[in-house]
Amino acid sequence: MGKRLLMFPLPFQGHHTPMLQLAEILHSKGFSISIIHTHFNSPNSANHPQFSFYPIPNSLFKDEDCSADHVVEFLNMLNKECVLPFTDLLSQILSENNVATEDEEPVACLITDALWHFTQALADSFKLPRIVLRTSNLASFLSFNSLYLLKEKGYLSAQGSQFEAPPPELSPLKVKDIPLLCVSDPEAAYELVSKLLEKTKASRGVIFNSFEELEPSSLATFRKDISVPIFVVGPFHKQVSASSSSLLAQDSSCISWLNSQSPKSVLYVSFGSIAAVNEAEFVEIAWGLANSKQPFLWAIRPGLVRGHDGPAPLPNGFLDEVADRGLVITWAPQVEVLRHPAIGGFWTHNGWNSTLESISEGIPMFCLPCFADQMANARYVTDLWRVGLRIEDEINRKDIDKAIRRLMLEKEGREIAERVACLKEKADLCIAEGGSSYKSLDNLVAHILSF
Ligand code: UDP
Repeated sequence: MGKRLLMFPLPFQGHHTPMLQLAEILHSKGFSISIIHTHFNSPNSANHPQFSFYPIPNSLFKDEDCSADHVVEFLNMLNKECVLPFTDLLSQILSENNVATEDEEPVACLITDALWHFTQALADSFKLPRIVLRTSNLASFLSFNSLYLLKEKGYLSAQGSQFEAPPPELSPLKVKDIPLLCVSDPEAAYELVSKLLEKTKASRGVIFNSFEELEPSSLATFRKDISVPIFVVGPFHKQVSASSSSLLAQDSSCISWLNSQSPKSVLYVSFGSIAAVNEAEFVEIAWGLANSKQPFLWAIRPGLVRGHDGPAPLPNGFLDEVADRGLVITWAPQVEVLRHPAIGGFWTHNGWNSTLESISEGIPMFCLPCFADQMANARYVTDLWRVGLRIEDEINRKDIDKAIRRLMLEKEGREIAERVACLKEKADLCIAEGGSSYKSLDNLVAHILSF
């Protein structure tokens, strides 16, 4: 008889998608899946008829609280507000399971996002093993692990960002890439990250959506410094059917537009689900794109421009100027877009999912990180893997235009494309039979069955 997994995603796109993908992967290994979720940003159960869904009562939070500028406060609030209703729900699920008929699968464990740190104490009290899914890469998890060092040395103080060099342990990161320095309240973020680390270390295992060949030295460091079993089993999106976990409706009409474009000619532009820019930056982005004269597909979601909940106001004359080469939509079927032969580059905010999707589809990146681990991801992309470029200073239309041409037209862009093609090949191999992620997934399944 199979076993049942209780899975609890964090209600943000970049966390929700990998948890649902992991659920699909584990379902294909014979587990039955129950998804526990908030009403806020709830999954569409119709897209996953093979799973059962359990909403947490009274968990409809206001989404204006979870903008990039308030994300730490929002996460702290979630970890407080969900304790009681989650406890009741978990207790109900487990007691129903206990009196279930013989053909009901026993619950093997709880798998939660690492940021649901309150669930560790609860899992312990129910004697339920908890495994953590960390949706960033290993390197940024390890940079969190060095934060006490940064705190000791004064980096988290108001003057922290004035320091010239970060401690050598964090290489290749620069001071401005240190995740906690890019939020409004570094101390509150430090508290959150400390709890995430402490409760992850208390768990029975941690899963990463990455692959060993991409981060070999981080994996070695993790194994040396942290005693929790680790399972690096990504890229998830290459092991599941096309994404059905989008919280916004994806506009697939862009695919027929892409069909009419030349191979590798189009720059795909999207800054994910939370990152926001101000109006002046938005105008520079728009004119930089237009002036580069390159074909582009731009996904502008509501809220991308601070102060505009609805569609962002494109500058006057922009749409006329780009009518023959640009398409603007609200939200893209991103993985399908990145796989399209017409795509030659991705201008991204470097959320980890976008970064990994780009790497494992072999697409060179133009990086515009905004906050949190995006800064570190962009640094790895440009300085370590060398599969993208970025503008270090404040963005302006002239530098954007130049950077897009370097990426899409010049020798530098072709070299980047060759390097990212090698990483794509490694990503393909790691999930094939005998590959690193393939084997790690088998280990994960055996680990869960051993509980
Ligand atoms: N995404 C999408 N359509 C878009 C933009 C993004 O489907 O127009 C998906 C993308 O494929 C990725 C997720 O949304 O899986 C964004 O996650 P990421 O970690 O890149 O960024 P976040 O939104 O968490 O900042």
